[in-house]
Amino acid sequence: MRKRTVRFRHFGVRWLATAALVLCIPALSGHAERQATLLEKAKFHERRPAIVQRTDAEQLQRLIAQNLIIDSVRGETLEAYVNDEEFQWIGDQGWKIEWVPDEELPHWKPRKVAPGGLSTPLTFYPTYEQLTNDLQILAASYPNLCRLESIGKSVENRDLWFLKITDNPDLEEAEPEFKYISTMHGDEPVGTVMTLNLIHILLGNYATDQRIRNLVDETEIWIMPLMNPDGYSDEEGPSRFNFHGVDLNRNFPDPVTSPTNTIAGRAPETQAVMTFGFHHSSVFSANLHTGALVMNYPFDYKTSPSPDDDVFVHVSHKYADLNPPMAANTDPSRGFVNGIVRGVLWFMVHGGMQDWNYLWLGCNEITIELSDFIKAPDESTLLGFWDDNRESMLAYMEQVHIGVRGLVTDADSGDPLAATVQVVGRDHNVFTDPDVGDYHRMLVPGTYDLEFSSEGYEAKTISGVEVQEASPTILDATLDKVPPPISMWRLR
Ligand code: ZN
Repeated sequence: MRKRTVRFRHFGVRWLATAALVLCIPALSGHAERQATLLEKAKFHERRPAIVQRTDAEQLQRLIAQNLIIDSVRGETLEAYVNDEEFQWIGDQGWKIEWVPDEELPHWKPRKVAPGGLSTPLTFYPTYEQLTNDLQILAASYPNLCRLESIGKSVENRDLWFLKITDNPDLEEAEPEFKYISTMHGDEPVGTVMTLNLIHILLGNYATDQRIRNLVDETEIWIMPLMNPDGYSDEEGPSRFNFHGVDLNRNFPDPVTSPTNTIAGRAPETQAVMTFGFHHSSVFSANLHTGALVMNYPFDYKTSPSPDDDVFVHVSHKYADLNPPMAANTDPSRGFVNGIVRGVLWFMVHGGMQDWNYLWLGCNEITIELSDFIKAPDESTLLGFWDDNRESMLAYMEQVHIGVRGLVTDADSGDPLAATVQVVGRDHNVFTDPDVGDYHRMLVPGTYDLEFSSEGYEAKTISGVEVQEASPTILDATLDKVPPPISMWRLR
């Protein structure tokens, strides 16, 4: 009855290899520090899935406080990734815990099928090499619509591919930036296939499909089909973790557990995505997972709703309502109602990518779970998944245009400004793209007051701004420089 959704990994071989390496190091270099790091890594690799019987709310709090990697909470059980010590600790608390038996876990691997480019929609999970090859072919075939960028390297030196799709791909335009990132958990491959399918229709149908042309013309779209290529490609079978055993969706800055918004000490895959975020002006995004079927919106890290709860509910429904199995997914044991949930009502997560995007980048991000219980559904079901998600993925992207947008410029020179835009009464900032000065503040229909500020300029509030559903409200703002102090005038 319980479907186990993760592949048991045989850590023994790698552990032995690591241990052998550790034993060699003192003789070679005598670096005690390096030795400790490798031992830690070996320990990380021992984490494997286990089922814990739930008791009460306090139990979950205590598990989260121990920084245990909880993957899912459902009914009478929760799934966690634990090492031997953590397994022992949980048992010592008097809670029932058991390993997920190997035979209950799915066994799959990405595979290479056709040589050359991929034909979509895909009916298999492609290898990283095939995905790379396909993206390179597309970039060469559609030079007017896309650019392929590697934003960094994984631990095992694989390129982290991000495909930019827009008209005029080398120009900075006053367009909102949207991004999809899939499979930061390497054993959750459905989103990799969905994003590849999406890339193919955005590029391939641009010439003939007016809706897709509008979307591509008016939006700077970024799609990363595979954030964790090492986990996905692991020879022992796809793994949730990166090569160092890091859960990338617990590795981002978090107001409680890791409040410094710097890349220091984080996994290279996390660093690459953070650095990308710092250099871009993402407005709206989603990261794709499997193991549940739901739109999981902020916050994950604390119990109170975000200042933009109405926006998140609105855009979550735009996706879920077009995906019939998702829309039908109401599960009180997980807090799901018609396919959406405020993350923390399911279970609390610290260090997730979603909350980091919202809190630090001003970007509205949602975690989309595409497949209930089964992380890597049989390849024969992939066409059905595409049927369920194609319209949702397009409609969700189009939501980047709701609300108010415009340019913030210097009143004298007309130069674009690096400015902060805040809706009065909402403790949340969005930022202009300083190259062009454009901002995009997603809002549901209503009347709002907007405050614009920029260092060295007088802040300005514009009141009574109307937002309607059909199209964004255009609202430009010009800011005046703060006059220099009187004494400065006298000196001149
Ligand atoms: Zn996941």
